[in-house]
Amino acid sequence: MQVPAPVEYERALSVEEAIALLVKHGSESRLIAGGHSLLPMMKLRLARPEVVIDINPLAGALSYVRREGDELAIGAMTRHADLLASALVSEHAPIIAEAERVIADPVVRNRGTVGGSLCQADPAEDLSAVFAALGATVRIRGPRGERSVDIDSFHTGPYTTVVEPDEILTEVRVRIHPGASSAYEKVERRVGDWAIAAAGAMLQVSGAAITSARIGLAAVGAEAFRAPRAEALLSGKEGSPELFAAAGAEAGRECNPHSDQRGPEDYKRHLVSVLTERALSRAYARASGGAAR
Ligand SMILES: Cc1cc2nc3c(=O)[nH]c(=O)nc-3n(C[C@H](O)[C@H](O)[C@H](O)COP(=O)(O)OP(=O)(O)OC[C@H]3O[C@@H](n4cnc5c(N)ncnc54)[C@H](O)[C@@H]3O)c2cc1C
Repeated sequence: MQVPAPVEYERALSVEEAIALLVKHGSESRLIAGGHSLLPMMKLRLARPEVVIDINPLAGALSYVRREGDELAIGAMTRHADLLASALVSEHAPIIAEAERVIADPVVRNRGTVGGSLCQADPAEDLSAVFAALGATVRIRGPRGERSVDIDSFHTGPYTTVVEPDEILTEVRVRIHPGASSAYEKVERRVGDWAIAAAGAMLQVSGAAITSARIGLAAVGAEAFRAPRAEALLSGKEGSPELFAAAGAEAGRECNPHSDQRGPEDYKRHLVSVLTERALSRAYARASGGAAR
């Protein structure tokens, strides 16, 4: 039986109170949102906080998807299921909706949050790859005020981010670019599992030319969840099956997967090539106004 170590429980009714509780209890305290990553780690004693601070009462304030000017604003307490159901997300960032369809199962999606997913910073986290592809910005608040961090600087390594122990992630912002669209591809061992490998793409297109390209990779050791050499092959070129195959092959070469129970390294590199190519093709068709499946 897996049982967590004894732990104190606090409940924050506002962002300010959450920050005050983090300051009061120091680095031995942890926020708990959906609990789908923290609780399993506590049961395995891989995490042993002395105090958990429940931020579910903040769902009223921090659970939303809304358009603000040319950006989508997504509150940190937005659940996976809310992203999946959001018409704004499907319209402006289909990569998020496609990833959400293959993240875990309905039980996890009903509780797990955007903030928890990003702060857990699991190297296989789908939303980390998705927001890397989208070039998102993350808002963080703490006793020293609010700051915005580019997603490329957000992760500092496996399971670590720039969020300090006394800070809370409050929002993720995604720019809505004209002529842009996106797609996500994932291969898992069985439905609801973590990725063996996954690839997302966001392309901005003018006429037939690709004016901007970002690729996000999950579970394959890509630095900052990106594939910069593959992205560089795409910019300024006209989209074509050959170009997307070349970019996919480059992504497969530049990522850094390890052999493990999910498969050998060369298989994962092959998956990255194929999934990147597919995500690019579908993002391009969407951005060009074509019907992408
Ligand atoms: C069976 C199962 C299958 C899964 N499959 C997948 C999958 O296929 N793909 C995938 O991407 N994920 C998967 N997950 C993970 C799932 O998406 C979790 O919901 C997510 O990783 C964590 O979100 P949470 O809200 O539950 O975070 P929690 O477990 O509550 O917290 C995780 C960490 O983030 C911190 N935290 C939470 N919110 C904030 C905040 N606002 N600011 C600062 N720190 C915060 C906590 O202190 C903790 O350290 C799976 C989980 C399970 C249990």
